[in-house]
Amino acid sequence: MSELCDLTIAQARDGLRTRRFSARELTAAHVKAMEAARGLNAFITETPERALADAARADVRIAAGDARALEGIPLAIKDLFCTEGVPTTAASHILDGFKPPYESTVTAKLWAQGAGMLGKANLDEFAMGSSNMTSYYGAVRSPWRRRGDDRPLVPGGSSGGSAAAVAARIAMAALGTDTGGSIRQPASFTGLVGMKPTYGRCSRWGIVAFASSLDQAGSLTRTVRDSAIMLRAMSGHDPKDSTSATLPVPDYEAALTGNIRGLRFGVPKEYRVEGMPAEIEKLWQTGIEWLRAAGAEPVDINLKLTKYALPTYYIIAPAEASSNLARYDGVRFGLRVEGKSIEEMYEATRAVGFGDEVKRRILVGTYVLSAGYYDAYYLKAQRVRALIAADFKRAFEKVDVILTPTAPSAAFAIGEKMDDPLAMYLNDVFTVPISLAGLPGISVPAGLSAEGLPLGLQVIGRAFDEETVLRAAESLERAANFTARPPALT
Ligand code: GLN
Repeated sequence: MSELCDLTIAQARDGLRTRRFSARELTAAHVKAMEAARGLNAFITETPERALADAARADVRIAAGDARALEGIPLAIKDLFCTEGVPTTAASHILDGFKPPYESTVTAKLWAQGAGMLGKANLDEFAMGSSNMTSYYGAVRSPWRRRGDDRPLVPGGSSGGSAAAVAARIAMAALGTDTGGSIRQPASFTGLVGMKPTYGRCSRWGIVAFASSLDQAGSLTRTVRDSAIMLRAMSGHDPKDSTSATLPVPDYEAALTGNIRGLRFGVPKEYRVEGMPAEIEKLWQTGIEWLRAAGAEPVDINLKLTKYALPTYYIIAPAEASSNLARYDGVRFGLRVEGKSIEEMYEATRAVGFGDEVKRRILVGTYVLSAGYYDAYYLKAQRVRALIAADFKRAFEKVDVILTPTAPSAAFAIGEKMDDPLAMYLNDVFTVPISLAGLPGISVPAGLSAEGLPLGLQVIGRAFDEETVLRAAESLERAANFTARPPALT
């Protein structure tokens, strides 16, 4: 592997500006890595020519002394972001042949900062899943392995291709989306930094919708600094998304002062869930000590409604999905399976076009929204959601951030948990509450399991206070000094 692929964005930025290498060299090295690592199935569509053309343009800007924030940085884009003229599948058969005639706001912002696109990364179908096994284009393999065990592992999901690409040093960073944990959990599984910004920080325009009141764009990177660089480029008000915030975008990198003295961080006892492996409990304790040693103060807090978050999420998210996915009917775009009547055509298209997990969500969502059940399920879930948000609000009167584990386990093997949807949903027990409350959360690689797999810690912040979240995350990163690499790269 070329050592260029091991650079962080911040390092590459310096190397490009001091002309130690060109954007073309940097991108060519990543294109080569992408081709060499096809066995991971991290990409649905590779766009190497596009990446090299982007790099050639970047070199012109750099030569002119006119480099922008992400000039010449090759990225992987979760295939849930619409990219003009480039197939966008959401990892679903039903979007066969769809080439969007427009560009998502967040990707457009990245290109406007000089980034290049290596390709469209694999994901769980419509971002529904925690393993990347529900993709119509097949499972993604993590570059990680358990010690002494060669069984392929999941990279987590739903942004599994994005995570695998960054962990395997194919892409310098990747775009993901997080509805209930889809950036943070794969980051935890693959030893990366994964950030879900506050709901409304980044525009949702041009992202294939799953659950609109929860969906957020975010990034997977190898360092907290890179996460700050990406967030600044991605954020900002967009008149095309009515839920996007009109707040100014801070310089997140400047927030990384290294000083968290006096910061109060909450430790919610309700996150000690039954059956959580002792090593995760221990890592959490270590994280508490790290922050304390850096001058921050731990505070015991209560998030009493934590146990209701998963059931609430698994009512609200499918309800919104069932409505959002009604548009896939074979009429305007994507797959069409002909039938004798238009109804038959709809039915045949949707029967063939959607996978099992997507159908399960549509069934659940339609059920909880149906007359007679709406009040009992959907309305009640909305009420509980408001109470969960209030729980966090109360906690944030006492603390500046909250520290928790990211996921209740390390990565599992491909095929495991597939026959038990409830066991799969449990992956999100620590990430879903934050999504329901719309808060920012980041996962930082903090250690290895006994089997040699990455484990992450999550920092949660107040709405639109990503600066404090990043600052605390950087402190954890420094203390953890996570240098482990996927075995295939060592
Ligand atoms: N794993 C969760 C789900 O299946 C979260 C997915 C996501 O964040 N997109 O719904």
